[in-house]
Amino acid sequence: MIVDERLVTYINSLETGNTAILDRIEKEATETYVPIIRKEMQTFLKLLLAMKKPARILEVGTAVGFSAILMAEYGPADARITTIENYEKRIPIAEENFRRAGVSDRITMISGDAAEVLKTLQGPYDFIFMDAAKGQYIHFLPEILRLLAADGVLVSDNVLQDGDIIESKFAVTRRNRTIHRRMRDYLYALTHSGELVTAVLPVGDGITVSTKKNDTGSEG
Ligand code: SAH
Ligand code: MG
Repeated sequence: MIVDERLVTYINSLETGNTAILDRIEKEATETYVPIIRKEMQTFLKLLLAMKKPARILEVGTAVGFSAILMAEYGPADARITTIENYEKRIPIAEENFRRAGVSDRITMISGDAAEVLKTLQGPYDFIFMDAAKGQYIHFLPEILRLLAADGVLVSDNVLQDGDIIESKFAVTRRNRTIHRRMRDYLYALTHSGELVTAVLPVGDGITVSTKKNDTGSEG
């Protein structure tokens, strides 16, 4: 936990909650150890969706569909969502959850490794939510930048590794060392890309929010 636990508990206590179907899917996911976005991220996504009103959304990392359904429910009523998942076991569960939530017609799930799938997609997407294997984000970035619309928003989850990101690479376990280096590279690339404006925020276990500069606008 990178933010004081009592503070997070307090902030989350102000949350007014999600729809009943989202609550059920969240509970099922938790009981079966399927990762889903935390409360803080849920709230933050809802805010961004209300502000940005994206018509085309891309998600990398569906799991069982919780965040895709949340985006379908709290984004514009006509928003179309494409979501990518490579873990075979989760795909039928996600499909079923989309059906239960009544959002199947607005969500297209593509099964496969995002490294391959992203290359086949056609942008532009107004909103991209990156929530897959942390060590892969840096490799996905060139395709993500290609697919992101001018003025589009890119949100990446779990970027501060529960605080480990500030440790020396020698202090993190060998297993996490590669992810540690790649995540630092990713954060550097996002914050130093001439194409993006990026904020790194200590929400959940760390997120970034980026927007792609619009060449036709005034120089920022
Ligand atoms: N966004 C989901 C949680 C995603 S968990 C939610 O909040 O409901 C991360 C998911 O990304 C996992 O299900 C994992 O299988 C998937 N994933 C990881 N690497 C991937 C890759 N290279 N291509 C596609 N999916 C990937
Ligand atoms: Mg995540």
